[in-house]
Amino acid sequence: MTTNSCPECESELQYEQNTKYFTCKKCGLYLTREQIYDIKDKLRPEKKKNKQDDYLEWWLSSKK
Ligand SMILES: [Zn+2]
Repeated sequence: MTTNSCPECESELQYEQNTKYFTCKKCGLYLTREQIYDIKDKLRPEKKKNKQDDYLEWWLSSKK
């Protein structure tokens, strides 16, 4: 899966240079790059959980 695939329907996203938005040709989704990453992150809870665990572990160890 690439950055330029729609997080909703996984079809091709079209980048608009003027607005810096990505639009989905199929479902009409209209997102910034940051929003796409955010949505894809939420669709992979395991990956995000590991990230948070690492951070929590670091935070707790720094408190000791
Ligand atoms: Zn779509």
